[in-house]
Amino acid sequence: MPSRAEPFRPPARLLLGPGPSGVDPRVLAAMAHPPLGHLDPDFLSLMDDVRQMLREVFVTANEVTLAVPGTGTAGMEAAVANLVEPGDRVVVCVAGYFGARMAEMARRLGARVTAVEAPWGASVPPGPVEDALRRADGPVKVVSLVHAETSTGVLQPLDDIVRLARRAGALVLVDAVTSLGGMPLAVDAVGGSGIDVCYSGTQKCLGSPPGLAPITVSPRAWEAIRSRRAACASFYLDLVLLNAYWGGDRAYHHTAPINALYGLRESLRLLLDEGLTARFDRHRRAHEQLRRGVEGLGLSFLVEEDSRLPMLNALRVPEGADDREVRRRLLAEHHIEIGGGLGPLAGAVWRVGLMGSSAREENVARFLTAMRIILGAPRMSKAPRRS
Ligand code: PLP
Repeated sequence: MPSRAEPFRPPARLLLGPGPSGVDPRVLAAMAHPPLGHLDPDFLSLMDDVRQMLREVFVTANEVTLAVPGTGTAGMEAAVANLVEPGDRVVVCVAGYFGARMAEMARRLGARVTAVEAPWGASVPPGPVEDALRRADGPVKVVSLVHAETSTGVLQPLDDIVRLARRAGALVLVDAVTSLGGMPLAVDAVGGSGIDVCYSGTQKCLGSPPGLAPITVSPRAWEAIRSRRAACASFYLDLVLLNAYWGGDRAYHHTAPINALYGLRESLRLLLDEGLTARFDRHRRAHEQLRRGVEGLGLSFLVEEDSRLPMLNALRVPEGADDREVRRRLLAEHHIEIGGGLGPLAGAVWRVGLMGSSAREENVARFLTAMRIILGAPRMSKAPRRS
């Protein structure tokens, strides 16, 4: 156990859980620079860089694009608290833990929430959303979706639901905490007319430590936010105030997490140097390698093949295996972290994240070797050599 007489030195870990994921040394080095003041012109120009690079990653022209202080949940709270006013009708798609969290936030903000639910392990189909929109006793202000449901490993298709929401005159809110930077998501193009508010978190496929929540707001949603009946109930997450600091008169709103923004800038540079397509391919390849490997170990996925996320793999805990003991041994003996199941999936799945700089061939190979040892599985037979 580390004692406080010594500086803390985290043990070396391979982070293959649902987040945080591994951080490139270049990002860590960027974060080790001395802080600047939050109104220093050099820092403001770093914020401009971050803003522009976030637009490229979100694939949007939205002027209002910034990084909210706080983790992915702060992004969720900023999105919901700014869009929703007491009494507003909101349709929330719930197919796992994070959809349920979004519904809970909207309820706490006084919205009239209709949760359209799907079983954990599936996505929400458009039909029930269409029904919910049709049955609403007045205009629905927001339809919300979780693009990559981290609790189940399911990809939520967006296009059809975005079209339905648009037809009903509702704004579309998308959680991209796990998907952004790891799989295609073009905010302005989804469903033909784009998403209105989309937020993420830095600690997954974007490759920075936790602490910031990128968010982007369409002109349509910005209009709705600016014409609210009352100011946003949260001062800290008020996007009008945050945007004034990021892109308006640069007025003080909060002391920006300076070093976290150094890190985000470097991780976005890494991402854009690699290229979005190459990065998505890398995540896909790591997922395919994992799929082949775990099938060789006799493990199976919770989710049907065509709905699986590349960056979050929910594997069923096999009969006779002790979920916690396997995860304990992975960490203690192999220094690898993976996640357990949440809610109704607790004890039933392992969640293996292949996100950002963690999504690499050597990491998948190391995980498979460790699992083979722990599960006592025979070595996978090699493909026969061609003579
Ligand atoms: N939304 C999704 C889909 C997530 O996976 C997470 C975290 O895992 C969150 C929101 C909340 O993010 P955070 O834990 O960074 O606050």
